[in-house]
Amino acid sequence: MAGEDAVMATNDDAAQCKRFAVEKGYWQDPYISLLVPKGKANHAPEINKGYYARVTSIRILIQKFVETTNRECQIVSLGAGSDTTYWCLKEQGLNPKSYIEMDFLAVTSRKCQQIKNKKALLDKLATEDGDIMWSKSEVHAGDYHLVSADLRQLSEVVKKLSDCGLDRSLPTLFMAECVLVYIDVKYTDQLIHWISENVPTAMFINYEQVNMGDKFGQVMIDNLKTRDCYLHGVAACQSLQTQKDRFINQGWTGASAIDMLSVYTHLPQADVQRVEKLEFLDERELLEQLYSHYCLVWAHQDPTNVGLKDLSL
Ligand code: SAM
Repeated sequence: MAGEDAVMATNDDAAQCKRFAVEKGYWQDPYISLLVPKGKANHAPEINKGYYARVTSIRILIQKFVETTNRECQIVSLGAGSDTTYWCLKEQGLNPKSYIEMDFLAVTSRKCQQIKNKKALLDKLATEDGDIMWSKSEVHAGDYHLVSADLRQLSEVVKKLSDCGLDRSLPTLFMAECVLVYIDVKYTDQLIHWISENVPTAMFINYEQVNMGDKFGQVMIDNLKTRDCYLHGVAACQSLQTQKDRFINQGWTGASAIDMLSVYTHLPQADVQRVEKLEFLDERELLEQLYSHYCLVWAHQDPTNVGLKDLSL
């Protein structure tokens, strides 16, 4: 389908930016250089700081979810791309019972190859009986599953989750980091609704664009269009309210949304100060404009009160 390649290429962009920022010392990730080749481009300090806030805030919420559930939980990463969270959590002893990654087939095929070829990645997948099931585009190991699916095809997504042994009775964190914005809201609504109906104890972390109705938002949209990349889901990215409503309207109990300017003030300030010293920032205005056009959203439903209601940044 037209534009699909461009959407998949956004993963390469994100991955390169993350690797660059890790090498600059913004946060630690011993696995990213194994999954993401070194890029040639230099990235501006405001981009690095943006990725720092994005990765750090999502990590904080994931950690709180895993600790609150005493690791008796699952994580499903929708549009996972080259993400390394599974390996980082395992290294920290914060791994859930099961971690499922889903993306387009071309993306998962490449990730499959990379995992196969890198001992340090493979070693973390080791199962008790040593059995790992591989296909060209999918991996099923003990607590790690990488599967291909088009998130617009609900029946395919549901089947793949079931192939991975998703236990609908366990607290489950679904996350979408810069993913839903590429998908028409009729499909993301359907997915968010399905989760609400079928996984009673659940949290959703969504990171993506917001305030896209203004001039700067339009520039961002036009910029991507020149690369044949369309924000089909932009209708849900108009405001923090529309970002929260997309969950509440599909049956979730509660949702919070804050823009990245505000996220920055919620991060551990000692670390923020360390990061501030890494690179001189001469475009604070650009940083603030960028930050006010991205947000972090987290939604929950928790009928048995395992503690998801109180989780926040
Ligand atoms: N979540 C990763 C991260 O933040 O590093 C990757 C983000 S990248 C900007 C967007 C990802 O969403 C890509 O890997 C893309 O292939 C995936 N994606 C977008 N639409 C999708 C769809 N309909 N089905 C499956 N994956 C999709």
